[in-house]
Amino acid sequence: MIVMKFGGSSLADAERIRHMGKIVESQLSRKPVMVLSAMGDTTDQLLEAADLALKKKKISIKKIKDLHINTIYDLKLDKKTEKEIRPLLEELKNLLTGISLIRELTDRTKDYLVSFGERFSVRIAAAYLRSVKIKAHAMDAWEAGFISDSNYTAAELDKESWKRVPEALNPLLDGGILPVITGFIAKDAQGNITTLGRGGSDRSATIIAAAMGAEEAQVWKDVDGILTADPRLVKDARPVEMVTYEEAAELAYFGAQVLHPRAMQPCLKTNTPVLVKNSYNPNAPGTRIVSVLPEKSKLPVRALTSRKNVTLVDIVSTRMVGQPGFLEGVFSTFARHGISVDMIASSEVSVSLTLDAVNSLEGFKEDLARIARVDIKTGKAIVTIIGDVGRSSEILQRAFGVCAGLGVQVQMISQGASKVNISFIVDDTQAGLVVQGLHKNYFGEPREG
Ligand code: ASP
Ligand code: MG
Repeated sequence: MIVMKFGGSSLADAERIRHMGKIVESQLSRKPVMVLSAMGDTTDQLLEAADLALKKKKISIKKIKDLHINTIYDLKLDKKTEKEIRPLLEELKNLLTGISLIRELTDRTKDYLVSFGERFSVRIAAAYLRSVKIKAHAMDAWEAGFISDSNYTAAELDKESWKRVPEALNPLLDGGILPVITGFIAKDAQGNITTLGRGGSDRSATIIAAAMGAEEAQVWKDVDGILTADPRLVKDARPVEMVTYEEAAELAYFGAQVLHPRAMQPCLKTNTPVLVKNSYNPNAPGTRIVSVLPEKSKLPVRALTSRKNVTLVDIVSTRMVGQPGFLEGVFSTFARHGISVDMIASSEVSVSLTLDAVNSLEGFKEDLARIARVDIKTGKAIVTIIGDVGRSSEILQRAFGVCAGLGVQVQMISQGASKVNISFIVDDTQAGLVVQGLHKNYFGEPREG
Protein backbone atom coordinates (compact mmCIF):
# COMPACT_ATOMS: atom_id res chain seq x y z
CA MET A 1 0.00 0.00 0.00
CA ILE A 2 1.01 3.67 -0.25
CA VAL A 3 0.14 6.85 1.66
CA MET A 4 -0.92 9.94 -0.29
CA LYS A 5 -0.97 13.20 1.63
CA PHE A 6 -2.48 16.36 0.17
CA GLY A 7 -1.73 19.78 1.67
CA GLY A 8 -4.09 22.76 1.96
CA SER A 9 -3.21 24.29 -1.41
CA SER A 10 -3.88 20.95 -3.12
CA LEU A 11 -7.42 21.05 -1.67
CA ALA A 12 -8.05 24.79 -1.87
CA ASP A 13 -11.36 24.63 -3.81
CA ALA A 14 -13.63 22.38 -5.89
CA GLU A 15 -11.33 22.45 -8.87
CA ARG A 16 -8.31 21.40 -6.81
CA ILE A 17 -10.32 18.59 -5.23
CA ARG A 18 -11.34 17.26 -8.65
CA HIS A 19 -7.72 17.37 -9.61
CA MET A 20 -6.74 15.50 -6.45
CA GLY A 21 -9.35 12.89 -7.40
CA LYS A 22 -7.64 12.30 -10.76
CA ILE A 23 -4.27 11.86 -9.07
CA VAL A 24 -5.70 9.34 -6.60
CA GLU A 25 -7.66 7.49 -9.28
CA SER A 26 -4.51 6.89 -11.30
CA GLN A 27 -2.93 5.07 -8.35
CA LEU A 28 -5.89 3.14 -6.94
CA SER A 29 -4.25 -0.19 -7.73
CA ARG A 30 -1.49 0.67 -5.24
CA LYS A 31 -4.01 0.64 -2.35
CA PRO A 32 -3.65 4.22 -1.14
CA VAL A 33 -4.47 5.59 2.29
CA MET A 34 -5.09 9.33 2.08
CA VAL A 35 -4.12 11.93 4.66
CA LEU A 36 -5.47 15.45 4.25
CA SER A 37 -4.78 18.94 5.58
CA ALA A 38 -7.51 21.53 5.97
CA MET A 39 -8.71 23.22 2.76
CA GLY A 40 -6.63 26.25 1.71
CA ASP A 41 -5.95 28.63 4.61
CA THR A 42 -8.71 27.28 6.84
CA THR A 43 -6.40 26.68 9.82
CA ASP A 44 -5.27 30.33 9.80
CA GLN A 45 -8.86 31.48 9.39
CA LEU A 46 -9.97 29.41 12.37
CA LEU A 47 -7.29 31.02 14.51
CA GLU A 48 -8.30 34.47 13.23
CA ALA A 49 -11.93 33.76 14.08
CA ALA A 50 -10.90 32.84 17.63
CA ASP A 51 -8.88 36.02 17.93
CA LEU A 52 -11.88 38.07 16.85
CA ALA A 53 -14.13 36.25 19.31
CA LEU A 54 -11.65 36.80 22.09
CA LYS A 55 -10.78 40.45 21.54
CA LYS A 56 -13.87 41.93 19.87
CA LYS A 57 -16.54 39.48 20.98
CA LYS A 58 -17.46 39.05 17.35
CA ILE A 59 -18.46 35.60 16.13
CA SER A 60 -17.86 35.21 12.41
CA ILE A 61 -17.33 32.00 10.48
CA LYS A 62 -18.56 33.37 7.16
CA LYS A 63 -15.36 32.80 5.18
CA ILE A 64 -14.97 29.27 6.50
CA LYS A 65 -18.61 28.39 5.99
CA ASP A 66 -18.72 29.87 2.46
CA LEU A 67 -15.64 27.98 1.34
CA HIS A 68 -16.89 24.62 2.54
CA ILE A 69 -20.56 24.92 1.63
CA ASN A 70 -19.76 26.40 -1.80
CA THR A 71 -17.33 23.59 -2.46
CA ILE A 72 -20.04 21.06 -1.63
CA TYR A 73 -22.34 22.75 -4.18
CA ASP A 74 -19.59 23.15 -6.80
CA LEU A 75 -18.76 19.48 -6.54
CA LYS A 76 -22.49 18.64 -6.72
CA LEU A 77 -22.21 16.41 -3.67
CA ASP A 78 -25.24 14.69 -2.23
CA LYS A 79 -27.36 16.28 0.54
CA LYS A 80 -25.85 13.87 3.04
CA THR A 81 -22.51 15.66 2.87
CA GLU A 82 -24.03 19.02 3.67
CA LYS A 83 -25.87 17.36 6.56
CA GLU A 84 -22.53 16.11 7.88
CA ILE A 85 -20.83 19.51 7.63
CA ARG A 86 -23.62 21.79 8.96
CA PRO A 87 -23.60 20.38 12.52
CA LEU A 88 -19.82 20.75 12.64
CA LEU A 89 -20.16 24.39 11.55
CA GLU A 90 -22.75 24.83 14.29
CA GLU A 91 -20.43 23.24 16.85
CA LEU A 92 -17.64 25.56 15.71
CA LYS A 93 -19.88 28.60 16.14
CA ASN A 94 -20.81 27.50 19.65
CA LEU A 95 -17.17 27.01 20.51
CA LEU A 96 -16.35 30.55 19.33
CA THR A 97 -19.23 31.89 21.39
CA GLY A 98 -17.81 30.06 24.39
CA ILE A 99 -14.37 31.53 23.77
CA SER A 100 -15.81 35.05 23.59
CA LEU A 101 -17.77 34.54 26.84
CA ILE A 102 -14.98 32.98 28.86
CA ARG A 103 -12.48 35.40 27.30
CA GLU A 104 -9.86 32.75 27.28
CA LEU A 105 -8.25 30.54 24.66
CA THR A 106 -6.24 27.75 26.23
CA ASP A 107 -4.01 25.48 24.16
CA ARG A 108 -6.50 22.68 24.66
CA THR A 109 -9.32 24.79 23.24
CA LYS A 110 -7.09 25.97 20.41
CA ASP A 111 -6.49 22.37 19.31
CA TYR A 112 -10.21 21.60 19.46
CA LEU A 113 -10.83 24.74 17.40
CA VAL A 114 -8.32 24.11 14.59
CA SER A 115 -9.34 20.44 14.33
CA PHE A 116 -12.49 21.51 12.46
CA GLY A 117 -10.44 22.32 9.33
CA GLU A 118 -9.25 18.75 8.80
CA ARG A 119 -12.60 17.30 9.89
CA PHE A 120 -14.37 19.33 7.18
CA SER A 121 -11.85 18.53 4.46
CA VAL A 122 -11.87 14.72 4.79
CA ARG A 123 -15.65 14.58 4.74
CA ILE A 124 -15.91 16.68 1.61
CA ALA A 125 -13.04 14.96 -0.18
CA ALA A 126 -14.33 11.46 0.61
CA ALA A 127 -17.84 12.41 -0.55
CA TYR A 128 -16.40 13.72 -3.79
CA LEU A 129 -14.39 10.53 -4.36
CA ARG A 130 -17.55 8.47 -3.77
CA SER A 131 -19.35 10.64 -6.33
CA VAL A 132 -16.78 9.52 -8.92
CA LYS A 133 -17.25 5.88 -7.90
CA ILE A 134 -14.26 5.45 -5.61
CA LYS A 135 -15.11 3.66 -2.37
CA ALA A 136 -13.74 6.31 0.00
CA HIS A 137 -14.35 6.50 3.73
CA ALA A 138 -13.68 9.68 5.78
CA MET A 139 -12.05 9.08 9.17
CA ASP A 140 -11.00 11.29 12.05
CA ALA A 141 -7.44 10.45 13.09
CA TRP A 142 -8.58 8.87 16.38
CA GLU A 143 -10.71 6.39 14.42
CA ALA A 144 -7.53 5.46 12.57
CA GLY A 145 -5.65 4.73 15.80
CA PHE A 146 -4.00 8.08 16.58
CA ILE A 147 -3.64 8.49 20.35
CA SER A 148 -1.32 11.21 21.67
CA ASP A 149 -0.06 12.71 24.91
CA SER A 150 -1.78 15.87 26.23
CA ASN A 151 0.90 18.30 25.12
CA TYR A 152 -1.62 20.51 23.33
CA THR A 153 -0.48 22.33 20.13
CA ALA A 154 2.61 20.08 19.94
CA ALA A 155 1.41 16.62 20.87
CA GLU A 156 3.43 13.47 20.41
CA LEU A 157 1.81 10.17 19.45
CA ASP A 158 1.76 7.25 21.90
CA LYS A 159 3.67 4.11 20.92
CA GLU A 160 0.27 2.36 21.05
CA SER A 161 -0.66 4.15 17.83
CA TRP A 162 1.92 2.22 15.84
CA LYS A 163 -0.04 -0.94 16.56
CA ARG A 164 -3.49 0.60 16.36
CA VAL A 165 -3.08 2.28 12.97
CA PRO A 166 -2.64 -0.96 11.01
CA GLU A 167 -5.34 -2.61 13.09
CA ALA A 168 -7.76 0.13 12.07
CA LEU A 169 -6.73 0.48 8.43
CA ASN A 170 -5.87 -3.01 7.18
CA PRO A 171 -9.46 -4.32 7.30
CA LEU A 172 -10.59 -1.33 5.22
CA LEU A 173 -7.85 -1.80 2.63
CA ASP A 174 -8.63 -5.51 2.48
CA GLY A 175 -12.24 -4.60 1.75
CA GLY A 176 -11.19 -2.38 -1.16
CA ILE A 177 -11.99 0.81 0.73
CA LEU A 178 -9.91 3.99 0.51
CA PRO A 179 -9.49 5.56 3.97
CA VAL A 180 -9.39 9.40 3.90
CA ILE A 181 -7.87 10.48 7.22
CA THR A 182 -7.49 13.83 8.94
CA GLY A 183 -3.84 14.88 9.21
CA PHE A 184 -2.56 17.08 12.03
CA ILE A 185 -4.92 15.93 14.80
CA ALA A 186 -5.24 13.16 17.40
CA LYS A 187 -6.91 12.54 20.75
CA ASP A 188 -5.30 12.09 24.15
CA ALA A 189 -6.18 9.36 26.66
CA GLN A 190 -8.91 11.57 28.18
CA GLY A 191 -10.53 11.97 24.77
CA ASN A 192 -9.50 15.60 24.22
CA ILE A 193 -8.53 16.61 20.70
CA THR A 194 -4.84 17.44 20.26
CA THR A 195 -2.68 18.60 17.34
CA LEU A 196 0.84 17.65 16.26
CA GLY A 197 1.79 21.29 15.65
CA ARG A 198 1.39 23.55 12.61
CA GLY A 199 2.18 21.78 9.37
CA GLY A 200 1.75 18.51 11.28
CA SER A 201 -0.20 16.60 8.65
CA ASP A 202 3.03 15.68 6.83
CA ARG A 203 4.00 13.95 10.04
CA SER A 204 0.61 12.22 10.28
CA ALA A 205 1.25 10.84 6.79
CA THR A 206 4.77 9.61 7.49
CA ILE A 207 3.61 7.99 10.75
CA ILE A 208 0.88 6.10 8.91
CA ALA A 209 3.32 5.10 6.17
CA ALA A 210 5.86 3.83 8.69
CA ALA A 211 3.27 2.06 10.86
CA MET A 212 1.70 0.37 7.84
CA GLY A 213 5.01 -0.62 6.24
CA ALA A 214 3.98 1.37 3.15
CA GLU A 215 5.85 1.15 -0.12
CA GLU A 216 6.16 4.94 -0.05
CA ALA A 217 4.69 8.12 1.42
CA GLN A 218 3.69 10.65 -1.21
CA VAL A 219 3.45 14.23 -0.04
CA TRP A 220 1.54 16.35 -2.58
CA LYS A 221 2.39 20.05 -2.39
CA ASP A 222 2.41 23.10 -4.64
CA VAL A 223 6.09 22.96 -5.59
CA ASP A 224 7.99 20.58 -7.86
CA GLY A 225 9.86 19.06 -4.92
CA ILE A 226 12.99 20.08 -3.08
CA LEU A 227 14.81 22.58 -5.27
CA THR A 228 18.55 22.99 -5.82
CA ALA A 229 18.27 26.55 -4.45
CA ASP A 230 15.75 29.16 -3.37
CA PRO A 231 13.96 30.05 -6.65
CA ARG A 232 13.61 33.67 -5.52
CA LEU A 233 17.39 33.84 -5.51
CA VAL A 234 18.32 31.51 -8.36
CA LYS A 235 15.98 31.62 -11.36
CA ASP A 236 17.40 28.38 -12.67
CA ALA A 237 16.76 26.41 -9.48
CA ARG A 238 15.46 22.94 -10.36
CA PRO A 239 14.03 20.00 -8.46
CA VAL A 240 16.48 17.60 -6.90
CA GLU A 241 15.69 14.08 -8.05
CA MET A 242 16.82 12.25 -4.93
CA VAL A 243 18.19 13.18 -1.51
CA THR A 244 18.87 11.32 1.71
CA TYR A 245 16.83 11.99 4.86
CA GLU A 246 19.89 13.70 6.36
CA GLU A 247 20.31 15.97 3.37
CA ALA A 248 16.62 16.84 3.38
CA ALA A 249 16.76 17.61 7.10
CA GLU A 250 19.78 19.87 6.63
CA LEU A 251 18.00 21.66 3.80
CA ALA A 252 14.93 22.19 5.95
CA TYR A 253 17.03 23.53 8.81
CA PHE A 254 18.89 25.95 6.58
CA GLY A 255 15.76 27.40 5.09
CA ALA A 256 14.23 25.23 2.35
CA GLN A 257 10.61 25.12 3.52
CA VAL A 258 9.50 21.89 1.92
CA LEU A 259 9.38 19.25 4.63
CA HIS A 260 9.96 19.79 8.32
CA PRO A 261 12.82 17.61 9.63
CA ARG A 262 10.44 16.14 12.21
CA ALA A 263 8.06 15.13 9.44
CA MET A 264 10.61 12.71 8.04
CA GLN A 265 11.57 11.01 11.32
CA PRO A 266 8.99 8.21 11.27
CA CYS A 267 9.96 7.13 7.75
CA LEU A 268 13.63 7.35 8.59
CA LYS A 269 13.10 4.68 11.25
CA THR A 270 11.60 2.25 8.75
CA ASN A 271 13.48 3.35 5.61
CA THR A 272 10.19 4.21 3.92
CA PRO A 273 10.84 6.48 0.92
CA VAL A 274 9.10 9.88 0.98
CA LEU A 275 8.17 11.32 -2.39
CA VAL A 276 7.50 15.07 -2.62
CA LYS A 277 5.21 15.80 -5.59
CA ASN A 278 3.49 18.85 -7.08
CA SER A 279 -0.29 18.49 -7.42
CA TYR A 280 -0.24 21.46 -9.82
CA ASN A 281 2.26 19.63 -12.02
CA PRO A 282 1.74 15.92 -11.38
CA ASN A 283 3.88 14.82 -14.32
CA ALA A 284 7.01 16.37 -12.82
CA PRO A 285 9.05 13.61 -11.19
CA GLY A 286 9.26 15.29 -7.78
CA THR A 287 11.92 14.61 -5.16
CA ARG A 288 12.45 11.20 -3.61
CA ILE A 289 13.83 11.14 -0.07
CA VAL A 290 15.58 7.86 0.73
CA SER A 291 18.03 6.43 3.26
CA VAL A 292 20.85 5.73 0.81
CA LEU A 293 21.30 7.07 -2.69
CA PRO A 294 21.41 4.06 -5.03
CA GLU A 295 24.60 5.00 -6.88
CA LYS A 296 26.97 7.87 -6.36
CA SER A 297 25.26 10.80 -7.98
CA LYS A 298 27.30 12.32 -10.76
CA LEU A 299 26.98 15.77 -9.23
CA PRO A 300 28.85 16.18 -5.94
CA VAL A 301 26.31 18.75 -4.75
CA ARG A 302 22.60 18.23 -4.16
CA ALA A 303 21.45 21.73 -3.22
CA LEU A 304 22.43 25.14 -1.87
CA THR A 305 20.89 27.31 0.79
CA SER A 306 21.74 30.55 2.50
CA ARG A 307 20.66 32.25 5.67
CA LYS A 308 21.07 35.97 6.20
CA ASN A 309 21.29 38.14 9.27
CA VAL A 310 23.95 36.14 11.00
CA THR A 311 26.44 37.46 13.57
CA LEU A 312 30.05 36.29 13.57
CA VAL A 313 31.90 36.26 16.89
CA ASP A 314 35.70 35.91 16.94
CA ILE A 315 37.08 35.05 20.35
CA VAL A 316 40.83 34.96 21.04
CA SER A 317 42.23 33.83 24.39
CA THR A 318 44.15 36.55 26.25
CA ARG A 319 46.08 33.91 28.18
CA MET A 320 49.03 31.80 27.14
CA VAL A 321 48.99 29.32 24.29
CA GLY A 322 47.47 26.00 25.25
CA GLN A 323 45.51 27.44 28.16
CA PRO A 324 43.37 24.48 29.27
CA GLY A 325 39.74 25.15 29.82
CA PHE A 326 39.56 28.02 27.37
CA LEU A 327 36.83 26.52 25.23
CA GLU A 328 34.97 25.42 28.32
CA GLY A 329 35.04 29.01 29.58
CA VAL A 330 33.74 30.23 26.25
CA PHE A 331 30.87 27.77 26.06
CA SER A 332 29.80 28.16 29.66
CA THR A 333 29.50 31.90 28.95
CA PHE A 334 27.21 31.13 26.02
CA ALA A 335 25.17 28.80 28.16
CA ARG A 336 24.84 31.37 31.00
CA HIS A 337 23.50 33.90 28.54
CA GLY A 338 21.21 31.41 26.83
CA ILE A 339 22.76 32.03 23.43
CA SER A 340 22.70 29.20 20.94
CA VAL A 341 25.47 28.78 18.44
CA ASP A 342 25.25 27.53 14.84
CA MET A 343 28.66 27.17 13.23
CA ILE A 344 31.96 26.77 15.06
CA ALA A 345 35.60 26.78 13.99
CA SER A 346 38.34 26.66 16.59
CA SER A 347 42.05 26.48 17.27
CA GLU A 348 43.81 26.08 20.59
CA VAL A 349 43.60 29.76 21.45
CA SER A 350 40.78 31.10 19.36
CA VAL A 351 37.28 30.20 18.37
CA SER A 352 34.90 31.68 15.82
CA LEU A 353 31.19 31.10 15.99
CA THR A 354 28.00 32.26 14.38
CA LEU A 355 24.73 33.25 16.03
CA ASP A 356 21.39 34.44 14.78
CA ALA A 357 21.25 38.22 14.93
CA VAL A 358 18.23 38.08 17.26
CA ASN A 359 20.48 37.52 20.27
CA SER A 360 21.32 40.53 22.43
CA LEU A 361 25.03 40.40 23.15
CA GLU A 362 25.60 43.22 25.68
CA GLY A 363 26.20 41.37 28.95
CA PHE A 364 27.64 38.43 27.11
CA LYS A 365 30.49 40.44 25.60
CA GLU A 366 31.40 41.96 28.96
CA ASP A 367 31.41 38.55 30.59
CA LEU A 368 33.56 36.99 27.94
CA ALA A 369 36.04 39.91 27.86
CA ARG A 370 37.42 38.59 31.15
CA ILE A 371 38.97 35.58 29.46
CA ALA A 372 39.27 36.64 25.84
CA ARG A 373 39.39 39.34 23.23
CA VAL A 374 36.01 39.44 21.54
CA ASP A 375 35.23 40.80 18.12
CA ILE A 376 31.59 40.84 17.00
CA LYS A 377 30.69 41.33 13.33
CA THR A 378 27.09 41.61 12.21
CA GLY A 379 25.58 41.53 8.71
CA LYS A 380 26.91 38.12 7.74
CA ALA A 381 25.31 35.22 5.89
CA ILE A 382 25.81 31.46 6.05
CA VAL A 383 25.98 29.76 2.68
CA THR A 384 25.45 26.01 2.97
CA ILE A 385 26.30 23.40 0.38
CA ILE A 386 24.44 20.12 0.85
CA GLY A 387 26.20 17.30 -0.87
CA ASP A 388 28.59 14.45 -0.83
CA VAL A 389 31.15 15.34 1.82
CA GLY A 390 33.25 12.42 0.59
CA ARG A 391 33.99 14.78 -2.26
CA SER A 392 34.59 17.85 -0.10
CA SER A 393 37.96 18.73 -1.67
CA GLU A 394 36.35 19.04 -5.07
CA ILE A 395 33.34 20.89 -3.67
CA LEU A 396 35.52 23.38 -1.77
CA GLN A 397 37.93 23.90 -4.61
CA ARG A 398 35.07 24.88 -6.87
CA ALA A 399 33.44 27.01 -4.17
CA PHE A 400 36.65 28.95 -3.54
CA GLY A 401 37.11 29.38 -7.27
CA VAL A 402 33.66 30.92 -7.51
CA CYS A 403 34.24 33.23 -4.52
CA ALA A 404 37.66 34.31 -5.79
CA GLY A 405 36.15 35.03 -9.19
CA LEU A 406 33.53 37.24 -7.56
CA GLY A 407 36.10 38.94 -5.34
CA VAL A 408 34.30 37.62 -2.26
CA GLN A 409 36.25 36.92 0.92
CA VAL A 410 35.27 33.66 2.67
CA GLN A 411 35.37 34.40 6.40
CA MET A 412 34.90 31.07 8.08
CA ILE A 413 34.25 27.48 7.04
CA SER A 414 32.88 24.43 8.77
CA GLN A 415 31.90 20.96 7.77
CA GLY A 416 28.79 19.70 9.55
CA ALA A 417 28.91 16.64 11.74
CA SER A 418 25.92 15.28 9.82
CA LYS A 419 28.46 14.68 7.03
CA VAL A 420 26.31 16.25 4.39
CA ASN A 421 26.90 19.94 4.73
CA ILE A 422 29.71 22.40 4.20
CA SER A 423 28.99 25.93 5.35
CA PHE A 424 30.87 29.15 5.05
CA ILE A 425 30.40 32.78 5.98
CA VAL A 426 30.34 35.74 3.62
CA ASP A 427 28.95 39.27 3.90
CA ASP A 428 25.15 39.44 3.82
CA THR A 429 25.21 41.65 0.75
CA GLN A 430 27.23 39.07 -1.19
CA ALA A 431 25.26 35.94 -0.30
CA GLY A 432 22.92 36.15 -3.29
CA LEU A 433 25.75 36.52 -5.78
CA VAL A 434 27.69 33.67 -4.22
CA VAL A 435 24.73 31.29 -4.29
CA GLN A 436 24.03 32.19 -7.93
CA GLY A 437 27.70 31.69 -8.84
CA LEU A 438 27.87 28.36 -7.02
CA HIS A 439 24.65 27.18 -8.63
CA LYS A 440 26.00 27.88 -12.08
CA ASN A 441 29.24 26.11 -11.26
CA TYR A 442 27.71 22.97 -9.75
CA PHE A 443 24.57 22.60 -11.83
CA GLY A 444 25.57 24.14 -15.16
CA GLU A 445 24.33 27.01 -17.28
CA PRO A 446 20.70 28.13 -17.01
CA ARG A 447 18.39 25.94 -19.02
CA GLU A 448 16.33 27.25 -21.91
CA GLY A 449 12.81 28.53 -21.34
N1 ASP B 1 -3.78 22.47 8.62
C1 ASP B 1 -2.64 22.43 9.51
C2 ASP B 1 -1.81 23.67 9.33
O1 ASP B 1 -2.11 24.49 8.48
C3 ASP B 1 -1.82 21.21 9.36
C4 ASP B 1 -1.14 21.07 8.03
O2 ASP B 1 -1.50 21.72 7.07
O3 ASP B 1 -0.19 20.28 7.95
O4 ASP B 1 -0.86 23.87 10.06
MG1 MG C 1 -2.55 23.93 6.18
